[in-house]
Amino acid sequence: MSNKIQAIRGMNDLLPKDSDLWGFVERNIADLFISYGYKNIRTPLVEKTDTFCRAIGQATDIVEKEMYSWKESNGESLSLRPEGTAGCVRMMIEHNLPREGIQKVFYQGAMFRHERPQKGRYRQFHQVGLEVFGAEDAKVDAELMMMTHNLWQQLGLKNLTLEINTLGSNEARAAYRDILVSYFSEHKNQLDEDSLRRLETNPLRILDSKNPDMQVLINSAPKLMNHLDDDSAKHFDQFKAYLQCLDIEFVVNTRLVRGLDYYNRTVFEWTTTDLGAQGTICAGGRYDGLVEKMGGNPTKAVGLAIGLERLILLLEEQNTEIATHKQSIYMVTLGDEAQLKSMQIAAELHNALPNFVIYNDISMASFKSQFKKADKAKADFALILGEEELNNNQVSIKPLKSQDQQQTFSLDEAIKFFKD
Ligand code: ATP
Ligand code: MG
Repeated sequence: MSNKIQAIRGMNDLLPKDSDLWGFVERNIADLFISYGYKNIRTPLVEKTDTFCRAIGQATDIVEKEMYSWKESNGESLSLRPEGTAGCVRMMIEHNLPREGIQKVFYQGAMFRHERPQKGRYRQFHQVGLEVFGAEDAKVDAELMMMTHNLWQQLGLKNLTLEINTLGSNEARAAYRDILVSYFSEHKNQLDEDSLRRLETNPLRILDSKNPDMQVLINSAPKLMNHLDDDSAKHFDQFKAYLQCLDIEFVVNTRLVRGLDYYNRTVFEWTTTDLGAQGTICAGGRYDGLVEKMGGNPTKAVGLAIGLERLILLLEEQNTEIATHKQSIYMVTLGDEAQLKSMQIAAELHNALPNFVIYNDISMASFKSQFKKADKAKADFALILGEEELNNNQVSIKPLKSQDQQQTFSLDEAIKFFKD
């Protein structure tokens, strides 16, 4: 076995070549969410294991088998966060924030799940999550759809389908659970191993099974939609009416139950067929009971999470044109004397042209070699500072992406040239 230094399986580096795209996407999302009045929050990467177990639910894939947990020397179990809602709810309760009024927040960062790595599924991955606390109306559920729809448009993404469903009230869900258990119990011989286990622990999750052999059985299962309480049915109708008035297309998928335990009423997923099995880009729903369950005052809540790796994969898959290009200047400097001056000029350029990328050569190589580096950096302009320019207190500018002539200017004129 070689002991080559390498990263952990399923945990990826962000390489320089990908950083413009990632930065563009992350800034876009943040700007959009801020424009809807959301505040960016941060919670620790590590919480008590118990916080996740209580929030996510024992009988879920995450808690059953996907968490990175360890024991501290005092015996307390801690875990790396597998998702963001638990920490966010913990923060809301600890700082009593919902008491101050409706809270609209978002966060972005790494999440950790011990799953089998494959395309679109990693052990460390990144989510942007968004949560609203203290609002019950379907208008807020619809606003989340409006924002994500808006985001796909801004990024130029195609072929995304919005799937929605309602899980009803906790009571309706509990009653439906019994109906489902008796249905599946009558067909126990057709259940696979996973579903047999879920029949005891989390029967709704059987509906989520991807096993082709079980699809007929699942499709004929009783539907929660037919056992809804009146308030939830009305809430769902309002949600759909808002989507219609926004011209956001959706399909009702009665099998959509989501992996986590805490949802009630609205659940949704934005999915695509362009990424194979890992087709869910964004998912979420309403979790009106969770804050109270975790020890806070009763607070209605709804949220979603976007999987950034999958979003980026989709942008690449669809060859989406993303305008990450920034105008750039490569400063070619010749001679020892010019070096000091080049630093002064760089400082002035950075001040005057905050949207430009400015490379001040540090290779100290020949004129020709610096130009090669400018090409490699895909710079738009070379700004030349040679002996003659230095003596005349000037700089020369050579466009690198057009046949335009090289021109010599004072620095002020040069800045004006770039601004234009
Ligand atoms: P899946 O059914 O694909 O396992 P999930 O229901 O476990 O997804 P959520 O907990 O709802 O996923 O997380 C929200 C989003 O985060 C997903 O829709 C997906 O885009 C992304 N995501 C979840 N797990 C991973 C992972 N292991 N690697 C990359 N992205 C992930
Ligand atoms: Mg999962």
